[in-house]
Amino acid sequence: MKRVFCPKCDHQITFDEKKYEDGQVVPMVCPACASQFKIKIGRKVVRNKTGEEKEVREADFSCGSIVVIENAFAFKQELPLAMGENVVGRRNKDTDGVNVEIITSDPSMGRKHCVITVKENKEGGLDYFLRDFPSLTGTFLRNELLGDRETVRLEDGDVITLGATTFILRTAGSKHEEENL
Ligand SMILES: [Zn+2]
Repeated sequence: MKRVFCPKCDHQITFDEKKYEDGQVVPMVCPACASQFKIKIGRKVVRNKTGEEKEVREADFSCGSIVVIENAFAFKQELPLAMGENVVGRRNKDTDGVNVEIITSDPSMGRKHCVITVKENKEGGLDYFLRDFPSLTGTFLRNELLGDRETVRLEDGDVITLGATTFILRTAGSKHEEENL
């Protein structure tokens, strides 16, 4: 499965790329704003109705991901992590330096709220660490507030809360139930 972002409203759309051939142009309709646009399979660029091209961020889950639980402010979304520091926060087009952008209207989540660091360990696996960015409302792991400058190690399935928003860590190689997204 692949994900694309609506060029108009940034809604995340999931589709099965295996149904299409490489190079095929697929028309999409955003379920959130009904905007129509096209994507070309195998390319990272979409073209909208006015002919404007926009890069599509394809999700790569090889370094793990976070699964944001649906709430009053956001729909359920899975966002990939990368090696090194991942700054997690509320998506805002004007904020740079955020790698993991949660699309939400949650006012208690900072634009830069916490940092998840992904490091390779001696066994060739990946270790995950969490710290507060720092944020105004703090970062909670399993309902416990992280201290100033505290860095904690994360395990698969850990529950992290930023403001009114909760997400779950999926480490690399953990099973995804894509159909449930
Ligand atoms: Zn849209």
